[in-house]
Amino acid sequence: AGKAAAKPRRRMTFPEGAVLINANENPLGPCKAACEAIAAIAHKGGRYDIDGETAKLTTTFAQQNGLKEDYIAVYAGSSEPLHFTTLAFTSPTAGFVTGDPSYEAGMRAAQISGAKISKVPLTSTYAHDVKAMVAADPNAGIIYICNPNNPTGTLTSKEDIAWAVANKPKGAIVLVDEAYIHLSDSPSVLDMVAADKDVIVLRTFSKVYGMAGIRCGFAVGRPDLLKKLEAYGQNAMPITGSAAANVSLLDAELVPSRKKIIGDIRNDTFDFLTKNNYKFIPSQSNCFMIDTGRNGREVITAMQAKNVFIGRTWPIWPNMVRVTVGSADDMAKFKVAFKEVMDKPAT
Ligand code: PLP
Repeated sequence: AGKAAAKPRRRMTFPEGAVLINANENPLGPCKAACEAIAAIAHKGGRYDIDGETAKLTTTFAQQNGLKEDYIAVYAGSSEPLHFTTLAFTSPTAGFVTGDPSYEAGMRAAQISGAKISKVPLTSTYAHDVKAMVAADPNAGIIYICNPNNPTGTLTSKEDIAWAVANKPKGAIVLVDEAYIHLSDSPSVLDMVAADKDVIVLRTFSKVYGMAGIRCGFAVGRPDLLKKLEAYGQNAMPITGSAAANVSLLDAELVPSRKKIIGDIRNDTFDFLTKNNYKFIPSQSNCFMIDTGRNGREVITAMQAKNVFIGRTWPIWPNMVRVTVGSADDMAKFKVAFKEVMDKPAT
């Protein structure tokens, strides 16, 4: 009694024809080969992964990235390994250090751990301030770097990440969330994992690969680090997710072509914002932030009334709203609605 009911997860329903540019999804969905792989394997779904789809996926990713297979753990998305890594490496005596604003799911898991949370503002160029992050907590268990960052879509240089790895507190790991890496020009830090550093990299198929509703992701790290995650649960993979992810990795055109499609639509949206004197943070991802010059929540609600669902605000920047790059049609509707909303004076 007295305890608030838990919020149902992702139960939001949307009106007919709603423009959904709120959750950093990919309107292109799974590629053709992935859809075919899902259809072909669905009838085997009565069994666990008896044909080794997850093993095949692991082999493909290992070969493509110069990694040993035992450095790769496959999960149904990257939320689970983000959660498990945080539970495994933070505690009341091992803190969680994050950029601000950044993706907050890890921080929430660290709260469950009873860890000290250090939120370190991004630099003036919206990179993670690695020096301040390392200085923030001498007892840190995790330094979380989201690159490109969610919600800003901005980059942290590989040199800076390497500096954090070299200077972090002893016993800490650097957790690099590369959910959006393929949409940017940033290099990956998977080579730091191959070099046996205290680094775990998270990858997901929910973004460039368009598989948010199919589910597949990786934690990539030294086997002794990955082992610590196992205590928090070991779930079977959906064979559809593993099979679809494997063929997606084998499609050499997929990442460059989608990076271009999404990048072109994003840059066209930036042209619109610039021409209309709206302030925004240039991004290299499928999301970006606009400074609305008023309470961002007001803008979000007014956009919803026009059936356009944009993302949210972050406490550190209440006037900024996150917008996901949708299809060209989505963004055409966004432009019309946004201009109408902004033409009205703030209340
Ligand atoms: N990491 C970041 C930075 C994200 O933005 C998201 C989803 O939005 C996730 C992880 C988790 O996504 P998923 O569980 O679909 O891989």
